[in-house]
Amino acid sequence: MAEETENRNGSAKSISIRSMNKYYGSFHALKDFSIEVEAGEFLVILGPSGCGKSTALRMIAGLESISSGELLIGDTNVTEVLPKYRDIAMVFQSYALYPHKTVAENIGFPLKMAKVPTNERHAAVQVAAEQVELHNHLDRFPSQLSGGQRQRVALARAIVRRPSVFLMDEPLSNLDAKLRGNMRAELKHMQSELGITTIYVTHDQIEAMTLANRVAIMKDGVIQQIGTPKEVYSDPVNLFVAGFMGLPPMNFINGTITAGKFLTSDAEIDASGIPDTKQATFGFRPEDCKVVAAGKGLIDANVYTVEMTGDQVLVTFDLRGGHLVVKMPKDFEIATGISAGITLDKNQAYFFDSEHGPRLHANQI
Ligand code: ATP
Repeated sequence: MAEETENRNGSAKSISIRSMNKYYGSFHALKDFSIEVEAGEFLVILGPSGCGKSTALRMIAGLESISSGELLIGDTNVTEVLPKYRDIAMVFQSYALYPHKTVAENIGFPLKMAKVPTNERHAAVQVAAEQVELHNHLDRFPSQLSGGQRQRVALARAIVRRPSVFLMDEPLSNLDAKLRGNMRAELKHMQSELGITTIYVTHDQIEAMTLANRVAIMKDGVIQQIGTPKEVYSDPVNLFVAGFMGLPPMNFINGTITAGKFLTSDAEIDASGIPDTKQATFGFRPEDCKVVAAGKGLIDANVYTVEMTGDQVLVTFDLRGGHLVVKMPKDFEIATGISAGITLDKNQAYFFDSEHGPRLHANQI
């Protein structure tokens, strides 16, 4: 049942996406895409380049036709409705500001197009500019603003329309790393203040983890998992999700599972309760394991490189040409080239069917 809740702008609307498909000729770009987005929720669609996330967003916006399936915004079926009647605002990677218009004119442009009376328009621009903290720069031109300020003008231009839904396609990716971090925090704060239902597309898992109420992870046009950031990180349903979430990524070792044991040429690891699997992958996160003396851990390997990142030390091991990474505290020291052990608790281990992908055991949270 579609939902509507009050937000500062009037009403936030739920979005129901039901078995949405997209074909470009014979190419099936989006496959049975279904999500129920709650009113006021911040949903992030995350996936590698080419997985279909922008296609999905453009279909919700009405910029791409829906080959089959249904899309509801609130209680209204908008599958065939033109973009301008969907009550959405989009923010893209490029700010697309008018260079010869001031900040105030850029923000107020959608209202001018909608023939909103001047007084009302000025008042709305003032409110939107205050929400993105640009009210002291209303007379400036885009060339007199920083990248972050320009992106905030684009956000204000979206807010001023008081839409029911925000759709954002990588809106922060043109900014440098520090500014991106600041804007992320601002965007999250603003979205929760305004309570506008938001769907945000990115390939950056940190952005997804920090912004989202829930994340939908996609691969090859198919949603792999939908869950809170904690769920998709700690409880991945398959090898793809486990490898995509986390930086440095989860460590993987290939082997077989026979009679409750994971076997490789380098180690024998307890996998009790897990069914026999011919092609299995053992996974563990860099922050869940520790470096110990050779022979004292689950597996021994040679230290390949040691990197001090400021708040931690990343120790990379070489295992038959593959790499395993362990996060250690910032005062940890070890020489490269020596053999050392890696240890972890059994409940921090993940096992996957590497031929088909799914995890072989239940929830670990
Ligand atoms: P990126 O992060 O690189 O933008 P994405 O996940 O947003 O990637 P999409 O742009 O949605 O990916 O594209 C999904 C797939 O659909 C890609 O294989 C792409 O080549 C294909 N595709 C997108 N638009 C068209 C089109 N107009 N005609 C044919 N194929 C298309």
